[in-house]
Amino acid sequence: MVKPMPESHPTTIRELRQTEYRVVPVRAELRRNLMRRLAAGDALFSGILGYEESVVPQLENAILAGQDLILLGERGQAKSRLLRGLIDLLDDAIPAIAGCEINDDPYQPLCRRCRQLVAEQGDDTQVSWLAPEKRYSEKLATPDTSIADLIGEVDPIRVAEGRYLSDEMTIHYGLIPRTHRGIFAINELPDLAERIQVGLLNIIEERDVQIRGYRLRLPLDVFVVATANPEDYTNRGRIITPLKDRFGAQIRTHYPRTIEHEIAIVDQEATTFDDMPVPVHVPQYMKEIVAEFTQLARRHPQVNQRSGVSVRMSIANQENLAGNALRRALRTGEKEAVARISDLSALTSSSAGKLELETLDDGDDSQLLDKMLHAACNNVFRRHFTAAQFADLLQRFDHGGFTVEVGEGLSASAYAAALGELPGIDAATEKLGESGTAASRAAVLEFILEGLHRGKRLNKTEMDGTAVYGG
Ligand SMILES: [Zn+2]
Repeated sequence: MVKPMPESHPTTIRELRQTEYRVVPVRAELRRNLMRRLAAGDALFSGILGYEESVVPQLENAILAGQDLILLGERGQAKSRLLRGLIDLLDDAIPAIAGCEINDDPYQPLCRRCRQLVAEQGDDTQVSWLAPEKRYSEKLATPDTSIADLIGEVDPIRVAEGRYLSDEMTIHYGLIPRTHRGIFAINELPDLAERIQVGLLNIIEERDVQIRGYRLRLPLDVFVVATANPEDYTNRGRIITPLKDRFGAQIRTHYPRTIEHEIAIVDQEATTFDDMPVPVHVPQYMKEIVAEFTQLARRHPQVNQRSGVSVRMSIANQENLAGNALRRALRTGEKEAVARISDLSALTSSSAGKLELETLDDGDDSQLLDKMLHAACNNVFRRHFTAAQFADLLQRFDHGGFTVEVGEGLSASAYAAALGELPGIDAATEKLGESGTAASRAAVLEFILEGLHRGKRLNKTEMDGTAVYGG
């Protein structure tokens, strides 16, 4: 990508003056680089799946319009990641007065130190170049976030050195001045105390700062972006109106709208290890169950939908599923680990902290998770098969008094007899696109039996980590 930048970086104001380089405000820079990338057909916010048609165009519009923006969404909707994606739209390097705490523009320094420096050294003043990452800062708002954190405070050491309070050299700058000529992201904006919101507004709107009673004009150039939970944001009184007005664009994020998107994100984000002693495989239908489970939780009346159910639950669940399969393979000495239905019991620990359940006691919690898992299995099974496809198999149970024992601790070899006896498993394995290894077929067998059980065609008796399916 072409960006306007001198061939070799000037190191003094004089050298900088000899180039074509022009300092532009950060919004203009973002806008210019976005326009170039749009015209070139470059992908923006790559690695963020499912927002191509919804969130990304709105975000682009806001940047093209030069508006400060706020992303509204529940937890785990890649809001912070979207905001960090803005770093890509910054120039590769911009010049600033070397050693400045607030990235001063070489031609228009704001801070007292740099103004003095330029007065003394003139065009010999040293210039350094800032990388995009240095021009982005992020703050999670909390009720005790202070003006000192965001804007600055009087540095008692500097006062002790004999400086007057009114001398701005006594200021220890906060995050926003330190992000001068860059992007400042504030997460969970409504958690800021009202008087801090006022301070924030003053700095971005009026461009002045009030610290410990004295006023200081600080015309900062900061692109302010924020995130908030939609309910907190719309709740009357949580955000001061003029600050709300300040955000030109309010963009609503969302969870993956399809199972396919959910799975694609999980596949992209799930931790993989390169020290696997045996190959670990999570079949596609198991990934579908994990994704379906999360999506059911996002609609369930007993799950707190205000805080939402993050994609991180799907990710943690899929990782846990793989972990449980690996543990079994190592215990039983199998050469391949394939996740299967009996591994789903491992999801209780990875789901628990990621859902806020509106139930009365812990007993209800695990029951509710079980119920949702069962529904997820049932839904995914019915998406692939009907019970009628397994009429022959069901007959073996109904008339032969046949039973199959399954369990997360059992090796695939324990399923060999059942796989030999039961018709239809090979066809199902093929239909699901799974390989014909013993571990894969054992997993398919469990999926079919569980599906038939959830469809009330087979009985299931569970006890201590194993279960028996029977007619
Ligand atoms: Zn400075």
